[in-house]
Amino acid sequence: MQTILILVIVFVLLVFIGYCICISTIKKHSTLYNELLIINNRYRPLFYTINDKKIIVPYSCNSLQKFRNNNNANSITNYLCGYIREQEPKWTDLYNELEHNKIKLNEYFNEYDVAKYNFAGTSYSEIKRKFPMTVAWYKNREERICTRKLLRPTVQVEIVCNISYTSPKKKNHYAERWTVGFDTIFAKIKTQKEVELSVAYQRLLMTDSLRYDILKRDNYRCRICGKSSNDGVLLEVDHITPVSKGGKTVEHNLQTLCRQCNQGKSAKM
Ligand SMILES: [Zn+2]
Repeated sequence: MQTILILVIVFVLLVFIGYCICISTIKKHSTLYNELLIINNRYRPLFYTINDKKIIVPYSCNSLQKFRNNNNANSITNYLCGYIREQEPKWTDLYNELEHNKIKLNEYFNEYDVAKYNFAGTSYSEIKRKFPMTVAWYKNREERICTRKLLRPTVQVEIVCNISYTSPKKKNHYAERWTVGFDTIFAKIKTQKEVELSVAYQRLLMTDSLRYDILKRDNYRCRICGKSSNDGVLLEVDHITPVSKGGKTVEHNLQTLCRQCNQGKSAKM
């Protein structure tokens, strides 16, 4: 019984040693593998090392109502946009590093694909003389060895937002975890900025001369209640579609309103 066990162990050991020698033979002689090592050496210094693959953001609510209102994808995204924008330069650096890694990784894979196209399996006849194996087996091993050796720089960071509410006497605790891609938040911030920029621009277009034209066109009367300054109201020029909702400063989007009607309108928007 013991002899059989020892024989089995010896056999397994021999197979293992044989396999190791075979793999190191492939590594030594495969043109593709050695080409990959050269590409790796060239690309390794080009990638940024990013240690934190997760950004943890706590979001504690001061009421259960607030927790319930904000425990949804939209509110979480908005909260995270605000959080990132508070320390924007720091996060912009991270964003740029990730984008850089994505571009370089793409170039890296392209180069590896070219190497694969040119060299995959080409060293078979040479290796077969040193270690007998079928061509299919060889190609399979070579591919796996190379895949394992591929560089994997960080191209994505996740933001984990822990939204929570704890009741005053700590009797109840509500918590939920949301995970959002860092680049998703950055894309959203970019859109926010575009809107803000256009809002600022549209406000700039609202000149005294244009304001005068609109008042004159509307006969110096509020378009809702019809009152004029003779009735003691203050007239304002209002964007029919607000600039914050994409409304433009153009005549057909402007109207004369008295302050009271204008405030009533804003309250409804
Ligand atoms: Zn009015």
